[in-house]
Amino acid sequence: MKIGVLALQGAFAEHIAILERLKIEVIPVRLPQQLEGLDGLIIPGGESTTITKLMVHYKLKNKIIELARNGFPIFGTCAGMIILAGELSSSGGVKPTGVMDIKVNRNAFGRQVDSFEAEINIPVIGKKPLTGVFIRAPLIESVGKAAEVLARLADGTIVAARQGKLLVCSFHPELTDDTRFHHYFLDIVSGKV
Ligand code: GLN
Repeated sequence: MKIGVLALQGAFAEHIAILERLKIEVIPVRLPQQLEGLDGLIIPGGESTTITKLMVHYKLKNKIIELARNGFPIFGTCAGMIILAGELSSSGGVKPTGVMDIKVNRNAFGRQVDSFEAEINIPVIGKKPLTGVFIRAPLIESVGKAAEVLARLADGTIVAARQGKLLVCSFHPELTDDTRFHHYFLDIVSGKV
């Protein structure tokens, strides 16, 4: 299995490190031709304004939209989730790819100082909660018919969702030692789930 990690800006090195720990072949993606021959792609957290501008500049955006529409597996964490959203309630100039039937609120939890950690129940990865690291995180305001909710905070806020082979979460699973959510994405890629 060969997984690409969009390596334009943000927490791409941490995703690469986790995949390497899981003995997966990883390709840092900076150019369109690096998308060829991949089985899946991770779009990391970072700054969605910067990442989307660079995606356009390096001619990656339309290619990624086309792949997503054709059922290619993509996992977006934090800014990556903003980028996969169908709609943003507070875009701040970000133009998402629009491939997922979810409405996302950027910076919904406040500023950098309002970052936090929370134990999250994600039934699809098992009973034990996962520690979610939320860094100036977006939240999912609503999920359309095509997508399903995978996790909520205790107050009901939606923080993870799936639509076909597209997976998103508000938090940063690459910043903990818990690899279960990455595993879940790899199971989506291999068609196990
Ligand atoms: N607030 C950032 C944005 O709007 C996302 C933060 C993150 O990826 N940790 O792009």
